[in-house]
Amino acid sequence: MGETSEITTFEELRKLRLADEGYIVIEDTAREPIVHKINAKCISADNFNVKVTLNARRTGKYFWVDSVATAGREFAARRCKVCRPETLLVDPSTFNT
Ligand SMILES: [Zn+2]
Repeated sequence: MGETSEITTFEELRKLRLADEGYIVIEDTAREPIVHKINAKCISADNFNVKVTLNARRTGKYFWVDSVATAGREFAARRCKVCRPETLLVDPSTFNT
C-alpha cells in the first residue's frame, strides 16, 4: 500500500523537503497531475503559495507520496520531464508473478 497525504501549509512543505523523502504530486485543474522529486526546483514556493494559500486549493493541490509508483497508482500522475523522478515504475509486489 502506498502512502499519500495532502500538503496544505507551506510549513508542511518545508518540513517534507527537509526530510528529503518521497515525492510530490501536483494536481492542477488545467492539466494532468505530475510527480516531482521532493526537492526539485520546479516546485516553487511562489506557485505553492498561489495555489494552496491564495486560491485555497481551487486551482491545484499538492500531495506528498511515498513513491513514484504510488503517484502513478493513486493519481495517474506523469513524471516531470524537468526533474525526472526515478524511472522505476514497477511495484515490487508484482515481481512475484
Ligand atoms: Zn519536476
